[in-house]
Amino acid sequence: MKNVLTIAGSDSCGGAGIQADLKTFSALGTYGMSAITAVTAQNTTGVFMVKELDVETVAAQINCIYDDIEVHAVKIGMVSSSEIIETIGRCLMEKGARNIVVDPVMVSKSKYKLLRPEACAALVKVLLPLADVVTPNIPEAEELIKGSIGTVEDMKQAAREIYDMGPKNVIIKGGHLAGDAVDVLYDGRRMVLFEGPRIATRNTHGTGCTFSSAIAAYLARGYAMKEAVGAAKEYITTAIAHSLALGRGAGPTHHFY
Ligand code: PLP
Repeated sequence: MKNVLTIAGSDSCGGAGIQADLKTFSALGTYGMSAITAVTAQNTTGVFMVKELDVETVAAQINCIYDDIEVHAVKIGMVSSSEIIETIGRCLMEKGARNIVVDPVMVSKSKYKLLRPEACAALVKVLLPLADVVTPNIPEAEELIKGSIGTVEDMKQAAREIYDMGPKNVIIKGGHLAGDAVDVLYDGRRMVLFEGPRIATRNTHGTGCTFSSAIAAYLARGYAMKEAVGAAKEYITTAIAHSLALGRGAGPTHHFY
């Protein structure tokens, strides 16, 4: 069994955050563990409250896992503040963490700011250089490059610019553009495009969390980056195709066991 850790926020309605990550890890045959950065009160219609945990609590969760259990991959999701980001960076460096997937979570689909705007610079400075892969969607990539993205060519250029910020690989998710969902993976040498059908559903809550967790699970299982991203793309496409019409808003993706 391979062990995967998520460092992220809790989503009380179970569609995104830590809950999506753990479901994905299990569905992909890995053992899931969690270090919670913040607790959110949310449902399918939106985020109603966020309570950040203090940095000692975040560090203690990460450290006691690494001190006892082999962590084959780690996914970082909602990190909330610069202090939490710096703490995570320090812990992962001290523990020699490997297979680090950074999902630069910034704003929820319901438009709630999950990352304090002033913490974006810390995310770039501390977490991107540690990342084996960073997985921004189009709005997150636009925030990182301070520019706009309207085409696949723009995505490729953004991937080059984000690569220069230090991660070993960049994958930009094209779901926010019109047409098929094309994702671009750049490893500093080659651009690889992953194409998937656009699925007409409003139930897409937690798609970003699920995709980055699936990459982490496949890396833990020993897949190379390109194969891990391809397999994760298949997993998220199926999870969206079978998404659940729960609640009055955007329902969650479905995980298969
Ligand atoms: N809540 C938490 C804790 C998250 O980590 C995320 C996304 O990463 C979200 C909510 C946002 O989910 P979505 O934008 O898919 O609705």
